[in-house]
Amino acid sequence: IIEAKNSPTIFDRILDGSIKADIVYEDPECLAFRDVDPQAPKHLLVIPRRRITMLEDAQNTDQELLGHLMLVVKKVAEQEDLTDGYRVVINNGPDGGQSVYHLHIHLLGGRQLNWPPG
Ligand code: 5GP
Repeated sequence: IIEAKNSPTIFDRILDGSIKADIVYEDPECLAFRDVDPQAPKHLLVIPRRRITMLEDAQNTDQELLGHLMLVVKKVAEQEDLTDGYRVVINNGPDGGQSVYHLHIHLLGGRQLNWPPG
């Protein structure tokens, strides 16, 4: 996990344009794009441009950015017409199933989702 926190991630390459992504929203602080391996008819990721590796590394000084990301999730959900609802998920660390160590919020919708997840 220490190594993961120190290495650049695939999201850096999406942010610098060297890997293509289907970007649905962007602003000076963040980017939203379609997940390459969608787990629902609509599956998007919202990421900050500035890398925070994971939620547990977020600081008090990140408060405004974290709030902004959440409001962008809402905006993207509206843009994607998720009028019947959706799910918002942050996977944190190994037990949380985090595979990319650049904080990201999953937005899933377009079908009835099961709870609890596996
Ligand atoms: P995590 O498992 O860390 O919460 O989520 C990482 C997500 O990033 C996964 O859902 C995975 O499908 C997605 N992902 C990994 N590599 C790429 C990529 O190159 N492009 C896009 N669009 N999504 C990716």
